[in-house]
Amino acid sequence: MALATVFVLGLGVRAFAAMATFETKKITDNVYAFRYQFHQAMFVVTPDGVIATDPIGFLRPQAVTTYIDEIRKITQAPIRYVVYSHHHYDHIAGGKPFKDLGAIFIAHRNAKAHLEQLKNPDVVLPDLVVDDRTTLTLGGTRLDLIYTGRNHSDNSLVMLLPKEKLLFVVDFLPIEQVMFRNGPDGFIPDWFDSIDRVLELDWDRMIPGHPGPGGRLGTKEDVRAYKQYMMDVSDAVKQAAAQGKCWDAAMKEIKLPKYEKWANYDAYLPGNIERFCSYWGRGY
Ligand SMILES: [Zn+2]
Repeated sequence: MALATVFVLGLGVRAFAAMATFETKKITDNVYAFRYQFHQAMFVVTPDGVIATDPIGFLRPQAVTTYIDEIRKITQAPIRYVVYSHHHYDHIAGGKPFKDLGAIFIAHRNAKAHLEQLKNPDVVLPDLVVDDRTTLTLGGTRLDLIYTGRNHSDNSLVMLLPKEKLLFVVDFLPIEQVMFRNGPDGFIPDWFDSIDRVLELDWDRMIPGHPGPGGRLGTKEDVRAYKQYMMDVSDAVKQAAAQGKCWDAAMKEIKLPKYEKWANYDAYLPGNIERFCSYWGRGY
């Protein structure tokens, strides 16, 4: 396995020296984070079975077989569920090996609707759908699947383990990273309300869908910092829009040095400005 690799990924280009291709981290007695390259999924192990999340196998079936092998190193209990965080391929493609093991696939209702239209042969369609909220209870562990409204997609489910006070969140709350490109499937201003709903939930640590700096977990402080970042972009662009600078001049001129250390700042800040220019400049 390559020890020093540059990955071109959903959230941009980042160099990771000496980062293994995959890693499984034990977070609590029953909760694990599985990372493959720059994507991450959570799985929950109970005596009665396993709840897995995003297969993260887009264009790399070996990620999914590795994921299952990693689960099997810990338990032989059946894999009962696979829960999709949202419908984007980079997180959910490649789930067939889980389906072949008998897992039930769960997603938000809107995710299923998109996937039925898209008909990607590499994506397993959900068997069950969630509207606002549902609870899975398995082998003494409770996992809440919660829709906090539209944000980076119109179907993101956050997954809360109330006893462990752990939250799994994918793509709409990156840790010390700017938003992906111009938020191509994103909803402004709903995103802000969605963040507030996440802050209202009772949790201490957040497992992100892409590893944070040094692979650390997130906190509510990270969520507040990300919301502040979005507000700072929004405020700067609102001013620029009023001066007729949207899109091109704003995308060139606006800098937010407070965030220049965040991942993908140079690559994606202009796209982030573009998104808010559409909102403030045209009302899109
Ligand atoms: Zn996504």
